[in-house]
Amino acid sequence: MSIPFEERTKPVFVVSSDTLVETPLVVGIIKDTLDKMGKAALALQLPIVVVPPVNPKTDETFWVNLIGRGYPAPTRQFRWCTERMKIDPMSEFIKSKVATFGEVVIVLGSRSQESSSRAQVMRKHRIEGSRLSRHTSLPNAFVFTPIDEWSADDVWEYLFSGPAPWGGDHQALFDLYKGSNAGECPLVIDTSTPSCGNSRFGCWTCTVVTQDRAMDGLIETGHKWMMPLRDFRNKLYNTTLPENKAEFRSNKRRNGTVTFVTVKGKDGEDPIQKQILGPYKMEYRRKFLEELLSLQVLVDRDNPGPKYELISKPELEAIRLQWRHDPNEPDWEDMVPQIYRKVMGEESLVDWEVNDDFVFAGGEGKLVADLCAKYGLPSELFMKLIELELSFEGHSRRSKLQEKLTELLARDWSDHELVVMRKREQLGSLHGREVEEKKLHEQYKTLVGMIGDAT
Ligand code: SF4
Repeated sequence: MSIPFEERTKPVFVVSSDTLVETPLVVGIIKDTLDKMGKAALALQLPIVVVPPVNPKTDETFWVNLIGRGYPAPTRQFRWCTERMKIDPMSEFIKSKVATFGEVVIVLGSRSQESSSRAQVMRKHRIEGSRLSRHTSLPNAFVFTPIDEWSADDVWEYLFSGPAPWGGDHQALFDLYKGSNAGECPLVIDTSTPSCGNSRFGCWTCTVVTQDRAMDGLIETGHKWMMPLRDFRNKLYNTTLPENKAEFRSNKRRNGTVTFVTVKGKDGEDPIQKQILGPYKMEYRRKFLEELLSLQVLVDRDNPGPKYELISKPELEAIRLQWRHDPNEPDWEDMVPQIYRKVMGEESLVDWEVNDDFVFAGGEGKLVADLCAKYGLPSELFMKLIELELSFEGHSRRSKLQEKLTELLARDWSDHELVVMRKREQLGSLHGREVEEKKLHEQYKTLVGMIGDAT
């Protein structure tokens, strides 16, 4: 059945999400399919608008968080990526359409068989007597899942039952799935959608899974140029293993403190004190950046397909800025351009932003470090103090300076061993006090009971 032209008034937006670290071959197929869809919609005079994939903000990409801020590679316990890289950009898009049209219906290809928790959430939000569900968090957004009850086989059967409406067939997609051992990767619109990273096509950097089976499958079926990408992912994954964490991560958290928590001992054993580690140490962030850029060189050389950019120039600038203002290890050496030149060659033409923020980029960091070592002072504290003072230059009101100074000095700057010892003692005495209080409380209860019996 065809809708007459004058009644085609409701626009349909085709939107996908690209985290900027998607598995390379998937990006190519999505781009190709979207191009075809757009052209076909135009030719058929359909109100279908193919929009560019939504991306995370430059300041929230995988590399800016991992290399720039030093966030540890994502794990099941600390999965910082999905919200920043998928949910937020998609929510922004949906909200912008709700603002324009009043309400929207999101058509999703998710299926109940993908995840029981997803199916449960969908049921919970279903609108009585309707095939729509409410979006879990966005007002005036409804969700329609036409293939909710389908199995994966049903999907393939349907796709092969005829040509694609935008021309051609789905063979390339089928080959990709066949070669990858992968499941599916749904469009993630909220926290209840199962994210990729479960033997699906997810980000090639995904460390939430032990092994990237999709990538392994693609390499096995001939895409050997992806091997260095897989090795790099594995390297990041190794940094998340409990036995390796202390090597890669700073003892200090981004708020400048060394933190211990008391956790229950196993099977009635005494509680133990566990340290909450901080971001990746700056030395490793520099290494990761160098390795990533070296990977880019390899990918450019060996990938037979279209150019695949691993990290963009705006991301490099954002990392540079993060390093410059790192709360614990400020990068006065301005290492990003230096690392870039080292890997890409002297002739690499990149215009780095000239920023008067980088006032110490001329070797002063080393000078300060040498002097501090000579006088036994923590150089990072010294650098942060100078930075703070400079940030107040020209301000007529400096009342906040005192507050900021106190805040800065209250951080854990002393020798690490000393800080750890002090924190353990503090926790130990706290724990001792708790035990003491508990004992007194028991004694008190017994006493009250005895008085009660006696009266
Ligand atoms: S695929 Fe992995 S890295 Fe990418 S957003 Fe999902 S969980 Fe995070």
